[in-house]
Formats: sequence, structure tokens, C-alpha cells
Amino acid sequence: MTAFPAGTILGYPRIGRRRELKRAVEAFWAGRIDEQQLENAAAELRAANRERLAELGLGRDDSSIPEASSYYDQVLDAAVAVGAIPARFDDLRDADGAIGLPAYFTVARGEGDRAPLEMTKWFDSNYHYLVPEIGPETTFSLSSDRLVREVAEAAAAGFRTRPVIVGPVTLLALAKASDAAPEGFDPLSRLDDVVAVYAELLTKLKDAGAEWVQLDEPALVSESLPADSAQLADAAQRALAVLGAAAERPAVLVAAPYASLGGTLDVLAAAPIEAIGIDLVRGEVPASLPELGGKVLVGGVIDGHNIWRGDLAAAFDKLERLRALGAEHVSASTSTSLLHVPHDVQDESRLDARLVSWLAFADQKVEQVVTLARGLAEGRAAIAAELDAATAALADRHDAPGVRDGAVRDRVLDTTDFSRVPYADREAAQLALDLPALPLTTIGSFPQTADIRRARAQFSRGEVPQDDYEAFLRAEIDRVVALQEDLGLDVLVHGEAERNDMVQYFAEHLDGFAVTENGWVQSYGSRATRPSILWGDVSRPAPITVSWAAYAQSLSAKHVKGMLTGPVTILAWSFVRDDQPLGETADQVALALRDEIADLEAAGIAIIQVDEPALRELLPLKRADQAAYLDWSVNSFRLATGGAAAATQIHTHLCYSEFGVVIDAIRALDADVTSIEAARSRMEVVADIAAQGFDHGIGPGVYDIHSPRVPSVAEVEALLRRAVDELPLRQLWVNPDCGLKTRGYDETVASLRNIVEATRRVREDVNVPA
Ligand code: GLN
Ligand code: ZN
Repeated sequence: MTAFPAGTILGYPRIGRRRELKRAVEAFWAGRIDEQQLENAAAELRAANRERLAELGLGRDDSSIPEASSYYDQVLDAAVAVGAIPARFDDLRDADGAIGLPAYFTVARGEGDRAPLEMTKWFDSNYHYLVPEIGPETTFSLSSDRLVREVAEAAAAGFRTRPVIVGPVTLLALAKASDAAPEGFDPLSRLDDVVAVYAELLTKLKDAGAEWVQLDEPALVSESLPADSAQLADAAQRALAVLGAAAERPAVLVAAPYASLGGTLDVLAAAPIEAIGIDLVRGEVPASLPELGGKVLVGGVIDGHNIWRGDLAAAFDKLERLRALGAEHVSASTSTSLLHVPHDVQDESRLDARLVSWLAFADQKVEQVVTLARGLAEGRAAIAAELDAATAALADRHDAPGVRDGAVRDRVLDTTDFSRVPYADREAAQLALDLPALPLTTIGSFPQTADIRRARAQFSRGEVPQDDYEAFLRAEIDRVVALQEDLGLDVLVHGEAERNDMVQYFAEHLDGFAVTENGWVQSYGSRATRPSILWGDVSRPAPITVSWAAYAQSLSAKHVKGMLTGPVTILAWSFVRDDQPLGETADQVALALRDEIADLEAAGIAIIQVDEPALRELLPLKRADQAAYLDWSVNSFRLATGGAAAATQIHTHLCYSEFGVVIDAIRALDADVTSIEAARSRMEVVADIAAQGFDHGIGPGVYDIHSPRVPSVAEVEALLRRAVDELPLRQLWVNPDCGLKTRGYDETVASLRNIVEATRRVREDVNVPA
């Protein structure tokens, strides 16, 4: 067997330091560049990344550099590689059955009446993947040689890289049954057929020069999937038996990031593969190791999820413990792909130097891995200076001003008030809001046009005086309010033009946060977010949203919703301090929001939405950890909203549709109205909600804002009728799936018009005055 490198990473950011891939992909979609130009731009980025990784100390030819780029999503990449696209896209294949780049993007984004694949969150991260649709009719065959070509491309540039692909078990475990599948169909039942294609792919990768291949199998660590651990372990065993026996193949690393493998480690240890990657940041070093049969144990000891420099000495200890437990071949790695962190802390010129010394972005993490690899090869003494420096930075961080603020801590300890009056009393008090049946609203943001982004950027660079900028924002609010009045929506929003991002905006106005310039992290497809860094105790020096909400309200006789981001989401979409329990940090944020809500009420805002789209995302993958999480997360929301008057209607918005999984938590949030995603899954979720019992207000989305498609009146009407059939009218709201900020105005206005018209038809039919 070819040796595995002493240090590696499971993956690297894919969008480029300056979001080059985003620009190229979006230019291609807009028709500004052709396919070849896009291919060239992407190839250039891949080449730059390989060079950079080699510069940082990974080997050019020892398979330590992962070949793990993607034009949109790695789950879609795997599905397309094995030909598993829904039948509705079959006509987009080339004559030989291959799925080219334009077809790939169509599957991701939809087109005309063809809905795209559903999108959902990837394990406990803020990355979204596309959900494959698999049925008995799915034909599996090698349908893209992209990964093979990229390995060859690397070889031509003098690199021997390690191709990475989502493994067969995870591909199927994350898939949903296709429309054509019979009731109760389990995509995992197609395992043997899929694995045959993976075997073929492995042979091709070997031919292209790959000595190692990485199969990502995070499904094996999750306890939150339809398949249970035993089924997944069994599937892994069967799949790897076949892949291991493939005639000509690279050595296989199976990586199981995001949590501990538990008993499944035994299954992998017994499988005919050559290396196992385990997550030792979210998971612990096991008490004992199974017989590894000479396999390499790739210890994920550098946090791929977070940006802290962390305790390097403790990371090295973990690797030494693996050795002490009998692992002959130990390699240092990141716990997950570095997809979840930005490129390079050296790209941040505006961050405080002291803060910078506590941080490690992707490139710094690569250096950490390289250091640990050297320690493994040469002994601890060889890296003592690096370990000591990291330890010193930790101590410096502990004692720095702002990290602990006595007043904030005392207030958290003193607050015990978490509940509002009973829902029935609030419902009665809120009749005064005088809303029609099936009230029409949006989730908050309106399209963020190039003008808006430009104005914000100019203001943040100090090129535009505050007064001018605020006048610009007021004009924007004027426009958005007028538009909503014209469309006939019932509860209006101010449009969020002042917000670059629903978390960063709050981070910029709260103490305890820092924001980055270039710290982009892929969220889905070509979209990226710039998480803030929550490094110290959090407090609110002054009201944040009140003047905008009050201004918008002054323009309309209808209610304008105040719009806040909830504590859990602020944590989930920031890089959060790792030196205290998340629940403590959440309570600090909650108290700041509680003050904001009181100020909004005082300014005459009667409906306030506190978005918690990330509630589900932070849910621990392990069942044993879930109750404690739900407890602190729900409490922080209640702490934030618990001071609101009975007559104030509190809304929340959740960005997903797996309502069932966290139904108890959603109930416990006790928001008066909850909006959720439902359009892509064609309202499947309302049946769930009805079955589970839920009596507060609910707005299942009728417009999929992740796609440029405009839903027709008939389509929205069908969705609404389904909702009305399943749930009492008094509970239902009508809204899009999510905020409109990523959409253009044409499609937004057309879609909202269709939604209003569909609602009018349904209202007429259920005999309520419109
Ligand atoms: N209020 C936010 C918006 O409309 C909610 C976005 C979200 O849930 N991701 O943009
Ligand atoms: Zn949303």
C-alpha cells in the first residue's frame, strides 16, 4: 500500500479567496461568459489552491492535497457522477448519457416547470446541500468524469492529489424517495447498484494517477437521519466490501466527520479499506481502538468548523493517545473539510492584531496540520515552540479586556423571566391587530439590488456621509412599503436594505463581536456569507433596528413587522467563542434582543419577528446531546421574547421544513406565528404539522426563493389548498419560504402578485371576506 501523508486536510474552501468561483458561475448563468470561460476560471482557481496548499507545507505528490472543488455542491457532484438525477431532467443528458455543466446547474436551480432538487442543511453546519431523489426507476451509470479530469489536470501541473467524493452510503442516506417511488421506499435499498458505479469510478481515478481517494461518509456519525446507526453501519460494510474488492483502485480513506463514529469504527476497522478519518473535535478519542489491521488512522484534531487557533498542544496529545492505544499509522488532519471557514486571517487588515493572534482560518489550519505532522514524524520536541506559542495565545485571550464583562454576566444570572401569558390570552389580545384570514406577508428582506449593495459598501468605506446614506435607505423603505401596499400584502416589512446580512448587521451593532472583510464561507451554490466573530461578552450599546422600523410604520396604516435575528441564529452563523458553554453566550445575546423588543414596542411596532432559521441546524447529531441543546436554545428565544406584551404578536421564521424533528422545541418557543419553508417539498410539511398537533399561527412557504422560478397562480393555489385542507384557517398565514434578498425584483414582484392572486382565490372559496 502507498503510504498516507503524515498530515492532510479533508477539504479546502472552494469559492476562492475573493469569491472568484461565485463571480464566474454567476456570470455563466447570466450569459456573460460561456461554458469554456467558466471552466477556465474554475481551473485557474483549482490550480491556485493547489499551489497555495503546497506553499503552506502540504506535499505536492504525496496525496495530502485534496482534490475537492465543486461548481455548486458536493452531494450534487456525487449524484451526477453516478447519474442519479431525477427523470424530469433526463432529456438534458448528452447523447452518451453524460451530464454536462449546464444540465448540472439546471438540476441545482430548476428551470420553467421543472423544480430543482430540494436543498437542506449539511449536518450541523450552515452549508446547504441538494437532496438527491432516488427511486426504483433511477438508473445508475457513470455520468460525469469531472473528478477524473481534475485529478489528471492536477497531475499535469505536477501534483498527485487525493480526489474526494461523497460516499455511497451518505449519498443514499441523504437522498429522498423520488416521486415515482412507492410509499415507504428507502433510497438505501439501491446501495448495490450505486456501489457498482463507485467501483468503476475508483478504477478511473486510479488510471488518472490517484494513489488515494477519500470517500466522505458523514452519514455514519449522524443519529438524525431516517436510517439508524445500525442500518448505516451495515450499509457501509456492504459497500466497502465491494469497493475494497475493486480490481484496480486507489487506496481508500473513509472520512467520517462532524461527530464521533461510535461503534461504527469497528465496522470500518474490519473493512477492506486503507485509512479511516475520525473527528476528534466533536468526538472524543475512543477509550480503546479496534484492531486496525495496518490501517491509517487520520485524526481530525484541528477544528474545521471554527476559526479559533485553539489548543494545539491538546490536539497533539490526542494524536499521541491514538498511538498509545495501538494505532500504528496516525496522521494529523482537520476534523471536517475546511469548507466551513474562510481562507486566510492574513487577509484581514481591519481586525485587531490581538484578536488575529487568537485566530486560525483555513490557511492557518493547514499550517497547524503541517506542524502536527512534523511532530508525529520527528517527536514532540521538534514542534515545542509552535505548541507553546499557541498555548500563550490562549492565555492571552483568556485575560484580554472585553472577553469577560461583569455587568453582562450579573444580568444573565439575575434574569429568570422566560414566559409570556398563555397563548389563548395573547390570541385574544391580538385580535386588535385586525388581520384578514390567510394574512399575506413576507419574511422580511426585499431584493438587495446592486444599488443597495453599492450604497452600503460606499458607506462602510466612509465614502458617503451618514445623512446621505440614511436618506438613501429611507427612499428604499418608501419604495418597498409602496410596493407592498400596491401588491396588497397585509403585514408589511421595511425590507432590510440596511442589512448586509441578518447576523452581521446585529454583530456590527453589538459589543463583543468583530466582523471580517474577506471572511466568506459558502452557504449554498454560489452564495456565501461572512460570519462575524463573537469573541467577548455581548451587550447592546444602543437601539439597533428601531428607527428603521418606526420610519416604515410611519408610512403605512397597515402593520409593519419589526425584524430581528434570534440568539440561536446569531450564534449559529457567527464564529462563536469556544471558551464557555453556548447557552451562556446565547443568554447574553437574548438579553440584548429583549431590550430591542421593548424599544420596538415603545416605538409603536405591534408585530415583531425574531428569526431563528438556524434552530434545527445546531441540533447535535447525537441524540444524547439533543435535549440539553433544545433546552438552552429554546430558553434563549424565550428570554429574548418573554418581555413582549400580550398584544404584541411575536413571529419567528425557520428556514427549513423538517418541522417534525424539532416540533416540541418549536412549540416551546411559543411564538405566536411561525413561518417555515414548504414550497420545494410541495407542502408535505403541513400534513406533519397537522398530525403532530400545533395550534399557534403557521406560515408554510408557498414560493421557493432559492430558485429564480416564478411560481404560477395555479401552483401557489394548489399549495394553499393543500394547507387549508390540513390545517384550521385561523392558524394559516401566506408567505414565501424565506427572505427575498437574493432574488431580483422582476421575479419577486411577479411571484408576489401570483401569491396574492392565489390567496384571493382561496379566500373566496373558503368564504372569507378578502
Ligand atoms: N428576515 C430574514 C430575511 O428575510 C430571514 C432570512 C432567513 O431566514 N435566512 O432575509
Ligand atoms: Zn428562511
